[in-house]
Amino acid sequence: MTISETETPFIALSGVSKSYQTGATSVPIFDNLDLSIQKGEFVAVMGPSGSGKSTLLNLLAGLDGPDSGDIRIADQRLDHMGEAARSAWRAHHLGIVFQFYNLLPMLTAEENIELPLLLKPIPAPVRRERVAKILDLVGLGGRGRQNPARMSGGQQQRVGIARAIVSDPALLLCDEPTGDLDRKSADEVLTMLGYLNRELGKTIVMVTHDPEAAEAAGRTLHLDKGVFVERLRVMA
Ligand code: ADP
Ligand code: MG
Repeated sequence: MTISETETPFIALSGVSKSYQTGATSVPIFDNLDLSIQKGEFVAVMGPSGSGKSTLLNLLAGLDGPDSGDIRIADQRLDHMGEAARSAWRAHHLGIVFQFYNLLPMLTAEENIELPLLLKPIPAPVRRERVAKILDLVGLGGRGRQNPARMSGGQQQRVGIARAIVSDPALLLCDEPTGDLDRKSADEVLTMLGYLNRELGKTIVMVTHDPEAAEAAGRTLHLDKGVFVERLRVMA
């Protein structure tokens, strides 16, 4: 590893500003936001509703662009890419896990997981082998033909995680991945994310309201009105 690789953060936001335009008024969300995340970190982002958590994930995913400032991920300027380049970048480097899974109900679990691979020139037998391996990894081996709609929430989220990692992306963005789950299923999902982080080296940024989910992460960022704040500790 070269010195510059060890020194450059995997994710670097610098001086990022972002407002939403509603009619004639501009509502500022971020003003000059800085953030560095190292490769292999598992970071939780907490904060009240409306504090900018989803906006941050959308910027990291290249689904939305900043008004000003730089967004660098793996040494690439996301904010300098055109739409086609950002789509290609997402397909290569990024997996996204959603609160409500976003699975396609007319497809089986394995067809859902296979979807991201269809964007790439991978032969069908290789795709199927990859999907079977990932199903095993998320503890759903043998259930690939099942329809996700007939699965429990925890199983559906594991299908969602399998789809997010089937292309072997370096970065996983998770928006409230346990928000719709009971405690036991939530813990299974967190154990899985911890495994992907520790054993497979995935960098994870997870938005959550769940303090136990944040415990699974190595670092927690608290976002309040678009600013990262120190955690306020209430003394008992
Ligand atoms: P969080 O995920 O922390 O709840 P968001 O990032 O979704 O917060 O939203 C931050 C603020 O920006 C909120 O006040 C929200 O109403 C506003 N907002 C989010 N998306 C848009 C949009 N597309 N247009 C206008 N305002 C938006
Ligand atoms: Mg949100």
